[in-house]
Formats: sequence, structure tokens, C-alpha cells
Amino acid sequence: MREINGKTQICGLIGKPVEHTLSPVIHNYLAKSEGRNLVYVPFLVEDVKIKEAVEGAFALNMLGLNVTVPHKSSIMLHLKEVDKLAKDIGAVNTLVRMEEGYKGYNTDMPGLLRAMQSENIAIKGELVVILGAGGAARAVALMCAREGAEAVYLLNRSLEKAKAVAAEVNYIHGQSIITPMKVTDYKKLPQRKCLAIQATSVGLHPNVDDVIISDEDFYKKVHTGVDLIYNPYTTKFMKLVQGFGGQTMNGLKMLLYQGIIAYELWNKVTISEAVAQEILMKMKKELKIDG
Ligand code: NDP
Repeated sequence: MREINGKTQICGLIGKPVEHTLSPVIHNYLAKSEGRNLVYVPFLVEDVKIKEAVEGAFALNMLGLNVTVPHKSSIMLHLKEVDKLAKDIGAVNTLVRMEEGYKGYNTDMPGLLRAMQSENIAIKGELVVILGAGGAARAVALMCAREGAEAVYLLNRSLEKAKAVAAEVNYIHGQSIITPMKVTDYKKLPQRKCLAIQATSVGLHPNVDDVIISDEDFYKKVHTGVDLIYNPYTTKFMKLVQGFGGQTMNGLKMLLYQGIIAYELWNKVTISEAVAQEILMKMKKELKIDG
């Protein structure tokens, strides 16, 4: 345990629930390895208390906050400023202290990008299939548009939601690159190998045998499958991709890098890949994952 003294800075996470978060593992490890006098603490905050939480944190001189479900959109109303990318994504997961209030950022999307880069998974020129049309899928769609995917198909259970997300992202990007589809229409996808990004909650613990598309023919065309879920560590979706020789990545590195980028914003530092790997080991240990 590091010594807490009069100079200790505080960062934290606000959300509901927060008790299973891995974020303290990331930030307290970083602070320790850098020899920085900073502690990171989770705070359970009710919907109706979000304004008070932001004001209270600022009044208490807190350096920064992470924001998780269900506050990622509603918090924007209570910030001094919101970064352009976070506005485009429609979600803030990091607050950085400024002179008169907090500025909101989104580090989820840059976190996923850094995670994919660390695994040499390219987006540029790719045919990308995104499964889902929730908050995470919307950010993934914008990332794929910005990173130069050749074409992006957004497949969702509710076609209306897929249409709305595609229209919004195409408008923000200024180019019609996202095509919405109903997930059951996956057979109509172009007959080419693709990068598939699983951004639904299907397959999440404890429903580990569930998968959004079970037809093996779909997986024959997936050269790389990214699942945003990390619990279980290898999802049914990833197992199916692997079964047909595809490369896979789960969401743990996305979680890791969104945290690292937040820490970098708070402390104006750059964290090395070697330290990132050390934290990843620590997170796996916490989740009781071997290897
Ligand atoms: P949302 O609740 O916003 O969206 C959920 C999505 O899953 C929707 O597209 C929804 O479809 C779909 N879905 C849910 N249940 C079913 C079902 N039974 N059959 C078909 N589709 C279904 O969630 P988020 O976008 O915030 O998160 C999605 C996933 O990404 C979660 O598993 C979350 O844990 C993960 N995530 C991981 C992060 C990381 O750091 N690794 C960060 C953020 C998210 P419909 O619109 O039809 O309801």
C-alpha cells in the first residue's frame, strides 16, 4: 500500500454498478509503477445524482474521472466542455480537470483502435461487418469510417436501430460508408473475406454458449473476429472464428487501453507498451485467466 498524504491526488470511476470494475487495477498499477502520488477509487452514483457527483468531484479537487454505464451520455450536460470526438460518438467516458470544470473525452474508441493496432489488425481498405447497433457499435462504426474501411455493414436485431446509427455516423463522417442490415440477412453480405466486430451483449457471462450468428457459413468468410466482450475470455463468437482459421481478439485490451489513454490525459504522460503488457497480466490475474 502506498502512503496517502496531503499531496495525494484522486481519480475515480462513476457508474452503476461499479463493484466488478477492473479500472482500479489499471490506474493504481500505473500510479505505482510511475511512482505517482495518485489513487483511483470507484464511486457508485445514481442516475439522479450525476450533476451533484460532477460538481462534488470538482469541488473536492479531483484530478479526473472515468464514467461508465449508465452515465456516458447524460454526463455531457454537466461538463464545461466536450471534446469533438466524444460529441461525435455521443458518449463521454473520461473527465479531465480544467480550470473551471471538467472536459469530457471518449477513450473507448481510441482504446479499441490502439488494442487492434497492438494485434496488427488493420481497418484500412477492409470490408468490415459490425454486429450490433448499441452505444459501442456506434463508436466502432465511426472508428471504421474514420480509419478508411472500404465498406462497413452494420447488422442488428432491430433494423430500425441499425438504420438510425448508420444515418448518424454517415452524416458525421460526411460520406455514406455504413450500410444497415437486419442481422438475419447476413447471407446477403458481399461474398468476400471480412473483419467482423462483435459489439452486442450476446455471449456475455453467464450466457457463454450464446452467439449472435450461429451459422458456420458466416464464419468461413471472417478472416479476423474482434469481440468487445472479455468475460468469457474466449467467446462463442471467437471460437467459431478460430474454428475456420480466423484471428481473434477479445475486449480486454480495449478496456486496458481506454484506461491507459485516460491516465495519459490526466497526467500528461505516455505509457509504454511494456507497462501496458504488465497491466494486462495483472488484469488477467484478477479475472483468473491463465497465460
Ligand atoms: P447496448 O445495450 O447499447 O447495445 C446492445 C446491443 O446488443 C444492441 O445492438 C442489441 O440489439 C444487441 N442485443 C442485445 N441482446 C440481444 C439478443 N438477445 N439478440 C440480438 N441482439 C441483442 O450495449 P453497448 O453497446 O454499450 O455494449 C455492447 C457490448 O460491448 C457489451 O457486451 C459490452 O460489455 C461490450 N463493451 C465492451 C467494452 C470494453 O472495454 N471491452 C466497452 C463497451 C462495451 P437491439 O438494438 O436489437 O436491442
